[in-house]
Amino acid sequence: MPVYDYHCSHCNAAFTVRKAMSEIDSPTPCPECESRETQRLISVVAIFASGSAGQKRALAGASSCSGCATAGPGCASCHPR
Ligand SMILES: [Zn+2]
Repeated sequence: MPVYDYHCSHCNAAFTVRKAMSEIDSPTPCPECESRETQRLISVVAIFASGSAGQKRALAGASSCSGCATAGPGCASCHPR
């Protein structure tokens, strides 16, 4: 199940939620203050940029996916099929 990073705009807390993709747009209350003023961050999605050698390299977000960091199958973000 994918993991998503959230930010609470009420108490400024950052937290991670593991939820199904089908529930991605459902409200996610903050675990700190139970506010529903939370925003999903896109840090799970790796951001790529072309390097000088023309290779793609991850600039951010790769560490939040265990599949990206290992030789595993990866996630839908890093290994779209
Ligand atoms: Zn909060």
